[in-house]
Amino acid sequence: MTASIRKVAIVGGTHGNELTGIYLVKKFQQFPELLHRSSFECETLLANPQAIALNRRYIDRDLNRCFATEDLANLELTGYEDLLAKEIANRLGDKDRPKFDVIIDLHSTTSNMGLTILPSSRQPFNFRMAAYLTTLHPDVRVACGVRCSQDDPMLRTLSLLGCTIEVGAIAQGILDVALF
Ligand SMILES: [Zn+2]
Repeated sequence: MTASIRKVAIVGGTHGNELTGIYLVKKFQQFPELLHRSSFECETLLANPQAIALNRRYIDRDLNRCFATEDLANLELTGYEDLLAKEIANRLGDKDRPKFDVIIDLHSTTSNMGLTILPSSRQPFNFRMAAYLTTLHPDVRVACGVRCSQDDPMLRTLSLLGCTIEVGAIAQGILDVALF
């Protein structure tokens, strides 16, 4: 599987008040050459535009809990984030038909998590990527608990490969230049 990585998605603003990822994605959108690589394509996405505009975590419901397979298929769920999750799944691909090989979802947290990698699944690629990142920065930690699976309702579960990155501690609605 890992031999065929062609498309990578970098997502910020799944939570609209977590500015580190939002501003990173904005920077990548302004300077797309930062993401140019010879062996794969990289696209960026600001996941929750209305929540970002209002500097709020979400409008109706936590977007990062809207990606359960049964909820994506449930046409009766019509809140702002429910519809947004369906749109994002359409763009990034459903769990069983991913359009992106790797999804990286950027978050920040008020908890003292440093730079924590939360792999999307227990695929060896994810652990190799996390191990590599620990060699680049001494603050990188890896957490793979019970939620390290595609059964969860998080955006990252749209692909088996990838991770959430949590940085903190940082207050919501604040951009910390060192963490950025
Ligand atoms: Zn978050």
